Amino acid sequence: MIDHLPDRLDLIATAEAGRVLRGRLPVAVLERLLPVLTSGQGELQVELSLGKDAGGTRFLAGTIEGEIVLRCQRCVKDMQLPLDLEFRLGLIRDESAVDELPDSYEPLAVTAEPAIIADIIAEEVLLALPIVPLHEGSDECHAYVKAYKPLQGEQRENPFAVLAEFKQKQ
Ligand SMILES: [Zn+2]
Repeated sequence: MIDHLPDRLDLIATAEAGRVLRGRLPVAVLERLLPVLTSGQGELQVELSLGKDAGGTRFLAGTIEGEIVLRCQRCVKDMQLPLDLEFRLGLIRDESAVDELPDSYEPLAVTAEPAIIADIIAEEVLLALPIVPLHEGSDECHAYVKAYKPLQGEQRENPFAVLAEFKQKQ
C-alpha cells in the first residue's frame, strides 16, 4: 500500500508491477467535474488497485469516498451528495480490444502518455451522478415547489404579437 496518489501514472506499467495506491484528492483538482458542482471544496478519499488478473487482463480497480455539493434541481439550493463508489476498469490500448475485455470490466483506453489520475476519478464520479439531482426526504425542498405560484395579473408578452408589430413597421 502506497499512501500517495501521483498526478499522473503509467497505468500499464503499474498494473504489470501490481500496486495499491491510496490518497486524498481535493475536489478542486477534478476539472471535468467542477462545472456540475456548486463548490470545489472538500476532498475525496481514493484507493486504486492496479494489477493483472488470472486471465491476463490488466486492470485498474478503485474506490472513491467523500462528499460533493451539487445544485438541487427542485429548490435550486446546494445539496450534499455522499459518494461511496467502486469501479473496475480493464486497461485497453485500442478500441478493438474492447470485445476481448471480460464483462466484469468497463473499458479504459490507455494512451502512451501517463494517465491523469484526476481525470479518471472525475469521470467515474460523473458517471455515478443522478441525471436530475434532487434533495431526498427534505420537507423544505418539497415545500419550495408547493409555495411556487405564478405572479397574478402579470401580463406576459406574447412573442408573436411583438413579431407582428415588428413586421408592420417594415
Ligand atoms: Zn432541493
